Amino acid sequence: MRVRFAPSPTGYLHIGNARTALANFLIAKKNNWKFTLRIEDTDMERSSKGSEASIINDLQWLGIEWDEGPDVGGDRGPYRQSERFEIYREYTEKLLNENKAYPCYCLPEEIDKVRKEIEKENRPFVCPQKCGEMNPDQRKKKESEGIKPAIRFRVPPNRVITVKDYIKGNISFRSDNIGGDFIIVRSDGIPVYNYIVVIDDALMEVTHVIRGEDHLSNTPKQVLIAEALNLPVPQYAHHALVLGEDRSKLSKRHGITSVELYRKEGYLPEALVNYLAMLGWAAESGEEILAIDQLVKQIDLTNLAKSAAVFDFHKLKWMNGVYIRNYPLDKLTDLMIPYIEEAGYTIDAMGRKKLEDLIDLVRGYCEILSDVKKIIGIFLDEVSIPDGEADDLLKEDHSKEIVALAKEIIENEVNENNFHETLISKIKEQTSLKGKKLFMPLRAVITGRLKGPDMHAALQLIGFEKIKKRIQYCFDKYK
Ligand code: GLU
Repeated sequence: MRVRFAPSPTGYLHIGNARTALANFLIAKKNNWKFTLRIEDTDMERSSKGSEASIINDLQWLGIEWDEGPDVGGDRGPYRQSERFEIYREYTEKLLNENKAYPCYCLPEEIDKVRKEIEKENRPFVCPQKCGEMNPDQRKKKESEGIKPAIRFRVPPNRVITVKDYIKGNISFRSDNIGGDFIIVRSDGIPVYNYIVVIDDALMEVTHVIRGEDHLSNTPKQVLIAEALNLPVPQYAHHALVLGEDRSKLSKRHGITSVELYRKEGYLPEALVNYLAMLGWAAESGEEILAIDQLVKQIDLTNLAKSAAVFDFHKLKWMNGVYIRNYPLDKLTDLMIPYIEEAGYTIDAMGRKKLEDLIDLVRGYCEILSDVKKIIGIFLDEVSIPDGEADDLLKEDHSKEIVALAKEIIENEVNENNFHETLISKIKEQTSLKGKKLFMPLRAVITGRLKGPDMHAALQLIGFEKIKKRIQYCFDKYK
């Protein structure tokens, strides 16, 4: 058995398509089926090699793997439609010879005009010159005029086409209602998606087509083509789509929709995979954090994204935070280094151990990797300029008392080796202030904010000299 993912390389990998790829991957893994990647690049103007490369890169980043594809090869290639035109031509010849398709000489403008009338009157579409009824002489005449025809598939009248779908059940279409004889090869010689997808799925031995339900309306056409060419019809599973908050199809105006941008913002592939798999699907146990192996166990063709789901950006972020908190520290450190450097800090001199301790301390405050940019300054800046809240607090009298005391103690009573254990306790001993009144100003002086990581651990990581400077800075500023 075999599934496939067939992206059109006309832009970045959209989150909705990533979900389709993931569904195919999970099902293949679960059942030990094969997975093929096919690039549907017949739209010459919009397709690009750059887009193909970025889609492949994003799929790999997500951990989605395939057995056959343009990059890895295989026995059923080529895996780019643009390299298969010879194959399609043979099938077109066959359809023409068997009178199951015919050349259509009508111009797009003529067609547009009748289409409008036909829609108004609710009649089935027939092209204006009735090309399907032309005899060989009439065709020859048209050819001699130099008109390049499109090729139309002759839709058999009065047929009921039943699509068997794992997710939707059996869905029947009437052949009279699918828009009339449709174009399979454009007048410029480029074959169209609905036609060649059938040939490719058959020749690549795809047994199960798992894709978004936006393709459901294409399916009766594809079934008719398969029948006309005597090719096998795959099993279908059309999953529900991902929606934006207003319940329209998820698009850029709702938020980030490109996998690449999620990666750049600092989402972890494991979290994105987990979130995408949970869209329109829930584990029986109610668990939300499921690694790919667990997803593979629980997901099935019949329970795959049955209902449309609204993409919840906040929930994805929350989930990413959960993954960050539980990620292997050395891997997380590697992933966070570029963000720390991007924020302008040099970490070479720090040493790996200290960096890992630092990241371990701040990871709880990061929902996405790039959050580290906002928080790492607490440790690495020379002085930590108090933010609005901290500034307000430090202006109060009791704060001034704490700052003065801290200055006195750090200068005279503690040293580099013991300050992290003794500074706070000594301040505590020498003031009548307690609880929040004591700790909040201290936190504000040392970290520049009122919320943040554990103070004892922070002190050591910030280091004696910086703490001293920060206390001095606040002493001068607020005295
Ligand atoms: N190239 C099509 C798309 O990206 C594939 C549709 C299909 O899976 O059949 O929408």
